[in-house]
This record gives sequence, structure tokens and C-alpha cells, in this order.
Amino acid sequence: MSGSLLVDNIGELVTNGLGEGPLGIRRDAAVLVEDGRVAWVGASAYAPAADRRLDAGGAAVLPGFVDSHAHLVFAGDRAAEFAARMAGEPYTGGGIRTTVGATRAATDDELRATVRRLRGEALRQGTTTMEIKSGYGLTVADEARSLRIAAETSTETTFLGAHVVPAEYADRPDDYVGLVCGPMLAAAAPHAKWIDVFCERGAFDVDHARAILACGQAVGLGVRLHANQLGPGPGVQLGVELGAASVDHCTHLSDADVDALAGAHTTTVATLLPGAEFSTRSPYPDARRLLDAGVTVALATDCNPGSSYTSSMPFCVALAVREMRMTPAEALWAATAGGARALRRDDIGVLTPRARADLVVLDAPSYLHLAYRPGVPLIRKVLLNGVPQ
Ligand SMILES: [Zn+2]
Repeated sequence: MSGSLLVDNIGELVTNGLGEGPLGIRRDAAVLVEDGRVAWVGASAYAPAADRRLDAGGAAVLPGFVDSHAHLVFAGDRAAEFAARMAGEPYTGGGIRTTVGATRAATDDELRATVRRLRGEALRQGTTTMEIKSGYGLTVADEARSLRIAAETSTETTFLGAHVVPAEYADRPDDYVGLVCGPMLAAAAPHAKWIDVFCERGAFDVDHARAILACGQAVGLGVRLHANQLGPGPGVQLGVELGAASVDHCTHLSDADVDALAGAHTTTVATLLPGAEFSTRSPYPDARRLLDAGVTVALATDCNPGSSYTSSMPFCVALAVREMRMTPAEALWAATAGGARALRRDDIGVLTPRARADLVVLDAPSYLHLAYRPGVPLIRKVLLNGVPQ
């Protein structure tokens, strides 16, 4: 759609840039959108003329959510496993292999339909950028097609061939690491921006994780890491050492882990995924400890059929506030600008001139309502690249 669009009569505009407080809030504001970008931000009374107008009616407007961690390419669901867990069985991560079997058996069109359905679901809840991982194929062909399908929907695609060691390699994990670093990476890399490893007891140890991530870096992929979810371990410090964009989960951290994340030269974001703790009935990460140490924190959904089958960033914001003692402002920043940092993007997660015009009009006067009114559909309108959805 060409021409300019003015979103005006905004009661509370969150810019994550210039304005009041850490969210850069402006009152009685307007945003001019041209060619998919923010062209101007200022007082509604002084707004320039535009070809079209969207009256926010005094409601709050935010940057679209940036969900920097999601697993959307899969088949089947694991509702029965969830029910068993809620009846008292512990979460071990072993159920990933169930989804691997279903994913391998699915057609391309079935996988594509699931990705589109979940991406649409997230968009309606205000998510304008969504990272998508592979990791349920675990063969050369299935990882390559997972990423090819992911890339139809997002530029933020992540090769996660090192999700778990598949059953056929259970007694020879070194051989599987060789496959991941060799032919699987070669087939995946043309469709991927990032490489990720599930570095956890029962998945990949630190030596394997280091080797796989180094292979990815050597072909130009950025590094991200699943680390310290199920127990303490070396993943977080490995991520910082390798200059990972993000270490994700961060549920079990030592003082040395927090110090590494808070280091003056650290650019690694700690991405917290409270949907996983909610859905596995596990203790939440200590967000306050990270924030108080000065660590950059992002929030994401971890949308996947096993441990966190939600695509809702507002739900994660509410969990972060209620269960992890983040303030509503910290949680919203982490779900927008924090997610952008975790993807090393400066054109999203903010509403300042030249940023992408990805924004959300709430059915509420303030962003505070995201946590204050949990479970309520508060997203009235979404603009993606300046285009009303
Ligand atoms: Zn994950």
C-alpha cells in the first residue's frame, strides 16, 4: 500500500526511544508512516497531513512485539503429555523425539500450514517479528525443508539441528555432531540466519555445543543458545564467550553466569521464556537478579508443542510481571526492544523515525493493561511494515 498514513489521537505512545521514562512514553501523540517506516513522531496537535488517517481514539500504541524464540515447524501436538505432567509427571525434554517422528512423517504443506496458522495467531496478538527455529527434523533433508518453510514466513530463521540427538544416533552422539556440522549445516545454512544448540544434560554437552556453534559461525551464522533451562550448566558462559546474540531460558544461574551476562563488554541478551516454566510447572527464572545486575533481558514465547504451546506475547508479559517480579515497564521493554536486541536488530522494537512501522493499537488506555488484564484480547489493530492487518 503506498502513500502516507497518520496514526493520531494516541493517548499513550510507547516509543522505546525519546520520551518519558525507560519506555520513552509520549502523551497525546501521533505517528506518521511512510513507505513502511516511521517518518515522524510528535504531538497529535502538530501532526503533518497524510493520505490516510487511523484514529487511535485515545488508546495506547506500542511497538509490535518481537518474539525472538519460537519453534513453529512441527507436526502433531503433545496435549496428552501436558495432561500427564499436570498430573504430576516431571518434564525431561524427552518428548521432543515424539514431535520429531510426527514432523518427519508430515508433508511440506502440512508443516507450512502449521507455521502459517501459528504466525497468524501471533500476529493477531500483536507479534510483528517472530524468530522461527528448525529442530524437529534432525535429518539433512528434514532440517533443510524445515528452514526453507520457515524462511517463507520470517527472515529470522535458526538452524537447530542440535535440538536433541535423534534415536537412531543415541549410542553414537559424536557421529550425530559430525552430521550436524557437515552435510546438515551445508543444507541448512542457505535458509538460516542463526545457529542454536540445546546445551543441557540429556541433549548436547558443552564440548559438542562449542564445536557445533563454531561450525555455524564459520559459515556466517549468528549464535544463539538454549542454556541453563533444566539445571545449572556451562551454556550461559559458553554463549557469552562466543559472543552469542542471546542465551535463552537462563532459569538456573550461578553468580558467575550473572557476572558474565552483566560484563561491560558483553552483548549477549538473556532471553527469558516464562511460558516454559508455566507449562512445565517449574520455578521461574530470577528476572530481578538479572535486571538488578544490569543484564539486558528479553521475553519470548518459546512457542513449541511440548513445553510451551503459546504464541501469546501478552501472556508472557503478564507472567513476567506476576511471577518474575518484573515491572510492567520492564516486561514490555523486554518483549519489544529486548527481543530486537536478542536478534541484533535496531529497526524493530522501537517507534522512532526510520524504524519499521510495526505497531500495535491496544483496546486500552495504557500498556499497563497487558499485565493488569491478563488473558483479555487487548490488541485492536496491528500495523506490519506500515500496512494495517
Ligand atoms: Zn526453545
